Amino acid sequence: MPADWTRPVDVERLADVGESREGDVPLASLPRLADDLARLEGHAHARIDFARERGQPVARISVQARVPLRCQRCLQPVWVECDTHSTLWLVTDPAKADVGEGNEMGLEPTLAPDGRVALSELVEEELLLAAPLVPRHEDVRQCGVAAEAAAPQAEEEAAQRPFAGLGELLKRGK
Ligand SMILES: [Zn+2]
Repeated sequence: MPADWTRPVDVERLADVGESREGDVPLASLPRLADDLARLEGHAHARIDFARERGQPVARISVQARVPLRCQRCLQPVWVECDTHSTLWLVTDPAKADVGEGNEMGLEPTLAPDGRVALSELVEEELLLAAPLVPRHEDVRQCGVAAEAAAPQAEEEAAQRPFAGLGELLKRGK
């Protein structure tokens, strides 16, 4: 991860220059998300474009990640695909959050105390919002099975099925 993703940035300045940042953020480096991870691996690909809307600093953020959350049934990893696109209103003065222009724009206020926020925090917030409240394997039969072992097996079964069906047809034809 580029070092500047964890260092607070001046959102007013980045909005003025229309700064764009793009990069990969290790999931394990996001402290609040890391608590929910079954494995400290993987990364999020993020792009953030700063701009001004009605004079307010905003960040258009998109985040793609495959997140190994902990299945609440079996505690094994359940891989959750996240693909988010949001526009955040960066609130530099908390007193403005309730009454400011941003609410008229219909944007979610995100606090940037003293005009500063770490980009990794924005990425983490997106992932936390996108993640299911209670992550679980969709199919209970996947529970307790390591994700890597389950996936190829399922594909194999699907591949064999057409031949099994063909066999049935041939039998009936006789
Ligand atoms: Zn499970």
